[in-house]
Amino acid sequence: MDIAIRILIALAMALVFYLIAVRIVRVMMAPPPPDEPDVSQLKPVDYRYRCMVCGTEVTMTASPEADAPDAPRHCREDMAPVAVAPRP
Ligand SMILES: [Zn+2]
Repeated sequence: MDIAIRILIALAMALVFYLIAVRIVRVMMAPPPPDEPDVSQLKPVDYRYRCMVCGTEVTMTASPEADAPDAPRHCREDMAPVAVAPRP
């Protein structure tokens, strides 16, 4: 194989390894989430979500955002909001 091509491949691989290392370091340097949520900011809500993969349902009773909080995740997928049925 031509020596120039081999050097080019080596440089490309070095660049790939460098970018992977930078990404790993960046993930490890990310600040951890805050220890305690600010409970005084929570508003009572009543949202239901269903996991579209396994069917698990959860009810959300408090959220820092009163309307349309981010859906929780289950089975690595966002859960789908479910219309709340009136309870007997
Ligand atoms: Zn699930």
